[in-house]
Amino acid sequence: NHESASQFSANLAAVLARSGAWCSKYHHENLNPALVGTKEPKGYMVPNQTGNACQNCLDNLRECDRLQRDVDDPLDPCSECRHFGGTRCLCTLVMDNSYNDVVFDKMLASGLENAYVLPPPEDRIHAPMPPHRVKKGWVGQSREQLLAKPDFLPHGVRDCPRAFIVSPYRSCQRTGLRTSSSSPSDVDSSSLPKANSAKM
Ligand SMILES: [Zn+2]
Ligand SMILES: [Zn+2]
Repeated sequence: NHESASQFSANLAAVLARSGAWCSKYHHENLNPALVGTKEPKGYMVPNQTGNACQNCLDNLRECDRLQRDVDDPLDPCSECRHFGGTRCLCTLVMDNSYNDVVFDKMLASGLENAYVLPPPEDRIHAPMPPHRVKKGWVGQSREQLLAKPDFLPHGVRDCPRAFIVSPYRSCQRTGLRTSSSSPSDVDSSSLPKANSAKM
């Protein structure tokens, strides 16, 4: 019948959108890949390397200094986690996600009703990591320095995120597809994660 057929195509559209093979929201002008390069700040693209930020910084779109630390030492968290990670924080580099991909997800999550504009950054709410989870002599940015930082995304990016991102790595990698909108810098095999079966 009619209803199950339209339900089926809606489900199919959702699956295809998630797989990166096709986007069900292509019709909205703020999701058009052709926006890349058309907005200020011209030339800026959201960083798309994997393995250069921790989950906390990715999720909150904040600059991460974990890569400049002892990557193998769990007691050497990034400055954001050190001061705002909370009691259960585990600060490790994320190998299968990038700021680009997070912005893509947040853009879709903001939804049609918000014209896919990203909301302003949220306040840092968590407490510092407990002292026993941080190595003695930890050195990094102070709480005050972090609070004084401007938004990680340059002014203008939140207003039209699609103009500053490429199609996500994860979906491309899962399906083996690359859309024609992907820029050459998107195809950097050296930074591709090795396996990604666990994450959808
Ligand atoms: Zn971090
Ligand atoms: Zn961290």
